[in-house]
Parts: sequence; structure tokens; C-alpha cells
Amino acid sequence: MTTRLERLSARVADAGLDALIVSQPENRRYLSGFTGSSGWLLISPDKALLATDSRYTEQAGHQAPAFQVVQVSGDLARWLPDLVAQLKPATRIGFEAADLPHASYKHWTESLSSKSAGVQLLPTEDLVEPLRMVKEPEEREAILQAVRRADAAMDAIVPTIEPGMTERQVAWRLEEHMREHGAEAVSFETIVAAGPNGAMAHHRPDDTLLQEGQPIVIDMGARVDGYCSDLTRTVLLGRPDDTFKRIYDTVLSAQLTAIATLRSGMTGDQGDALARSLIEKASYGDKFGHSLGHGVGLAIHEPPRLGKGSPHPLQDDMVFTVEPGIYITGWGGVRIEDVVELAKGSAVVLSTARKRDTVRSSL
Ligand code: ZN
Ligand code: ZN
Repeated sequence: MTTRLERLSARVADAGLDALIVSQPENRRYLSGFTGSSGWLLISPDKALLATDSRYTEQAGHQAPAFQVVQVSGDLARWLPDLVAQLKPATRIGFEAADLPHASYKHWTESLSSKSAGVQLLPTEDLVEPLRMVKEPEEREAILQAVRRADAAMDAIVPTIEPGMTERQVAWRLEEHMREHGAEAVSFETIVAAGPNGAMAHHRPDDTLLQEGQPIVIDMGARVDGYCSDLTRTVLLGRPDDTFKRIYDTVLSAQLTAIATLRSGMTGDQGDALARSLIEKASYGDKFGHSLGHGVGLAIHEPPRLGKGSPHPLQDDMVFTVEPGIYITGWGGVRIEDVVELAKGSAVVLSTARKRDTVRSSL
């Protein structure tokens, strides 16, 4: 934690700030180790304060030894001036603009201007997030454990699915398997999208019955020690027709090609193009509407983004997904997603779940 704080302090100083208030939950956990659902960090070059209410002060003391825990109650506007007074002469204090509702911002500034003359609250963006892009060994290990839980569930449950089951039943079996094998939670709501539902990238599982001959998109992940995994497989019950084969093969070869040719030093835009160019060549370019991938970590979606126009430089020890897809309204979708890490310049696949295009093709 101390190294993370040191790296952050340098960025806070470079931004011309005397201190930073961190409220975004994953950033708070990343910097402090504190996993509670409510708390604020106030970080300056010589102080690291963690303000939380009485439900959490004991837990915070154990989890965040690098921080001085301050018990607070009520709205932040009430106690912020007292905390800021401990930092003096801090006058330029940053806050995470993406995490603060405008109404709260107004209360904070009113309260500070009435009690702490000369203190300015300044919006910041992306001060902590770039630190989280490059994973430390223990973060990588937690992600790997989360990847393993999703892999095992996919490999165990996919062979058991049959026509007539509902999407919801399949989703529950997958979740149950992950939870029974050590996942502390799912990393997002499991997606099982059969037939035309698969054309909607974030379809929620419902009572749709699985049918032979339709693609079924299964997208899921586990959470271990706070870290997420993300895995998609597309399967078809019974015999695939030529359309499915063509689309599946296009997505798979785009994914495998991107993984084989990704290199550290590329931008997110260049990484995305490795897969997109193949899908475009197969005339499905307009059916691949999302980015190729996203970082995973404490959040299921975090930088870097591998997508059109993404400037994020990809570098060693980043962990992200590679997940091309083709979606045809009224027919369905095919998406194949693995988590990879960049090591020694190229991509190493962490996911091991089988890629099978069909389930029991003799049905
Ligand atoms: Zn996914
Ligand atoms: Zn994903």
C-alpha cells in the first residue's frame, strides 16, 4: 500500500494539488486495503487519513494500517473542514469528479468556504486509475483465481445444458458452481442469451427456452479477493448450420489472431484493430459494435480500453479481455472472451475454459 501511496502522491503533486479526496470505492480499496462500503481517503504528502463511520472503524484499523482512521458521522460537508484543518496549509484539494454528484459538490464547497478560508476544491480525473492498470503479482494471482473459478464452472456446466432449459436455469447453475468453488461473488450478473437475445450485448437471463440450432452466448465471471474475471463462450445445441459456422469461425480467428499478435507498446486502438480488421474483411464490421477488450481488476471494466480511438498504451503486467463478437438482429450473437495478461511483450491467455462451438452435435 505504501508504494501505491507514494506513486499516487507524485501524481497529486504533478497535478498541482496539496491533497486528494478519494471516494471511488475501487480506488479507495486499492490505495488503503479497506473493503468497507463507506469511507473517504484524504491523502496529502505527509498524511493519509481514512474517514469512516462507527460501523467500520475497527475493520478499517485492521485493513488499512498505512492510514490514520478517523471516525466521522453524518454528511461529509459537516466534518470535512475539520479534517482539512489537519492538513494545513493545504489549499488546493482535489476530488474525484466522476464519483461526486453535483449536489454533494455544492454542499462540500459551501461548507469549506464558510469554515476553511482559502481552501479550493478542484475536480480531478484519472489520478488513481492509471496506477491500477499495471498489476502487481498478488493482484495477478487474485485475478487468476477468479479466472479459474469461471473456467471450472463453464467447463462443468456447458456439457449439461439441454434444449428446454431456461436461460435463467443455466445462469443459476453457473453461479452456483462458482460460489461453491470459492468465488466470493459473481463479478457481474451472469449473461445467458439464447438465439435472438444474443444480439443484445447485455441481455439479462429470463425464461427464454434454449432451442436446438440457436447460438447461446454465456458471459460470466467470478470475484476472488475483490478481483474479477470475465469469460464468454458461445455454444450451439445440436448441429450448426453454415451461418453459425461462418460467424463462429470469423470471431474465433479474430480473437486468436489478436491474442497472437498483440504486443506491449501498442495502443488500445491498435490492439482493437488486430481483430476488427479481420471481422471487417469477412463483411461483419458493422456487426461488431463494441470494443475488443477492457482491463479487469478490482472493477470488471477498468482501463486500459482496447477500442477504436483508445490512446491507452498497452504494457507488460496489464491484464485485460480480448472479446470480439458479431451480432445479427433477429438471429443472435457470437462472442468469445478470454482474459489475457501482457508478459515479456506479448499476450498470455489466463482463461482455460474449453472453446467448443457445439454441445452434443449428435442431438
Ligand atoms: Zn464478459
Ligand atoms: Zn468483458
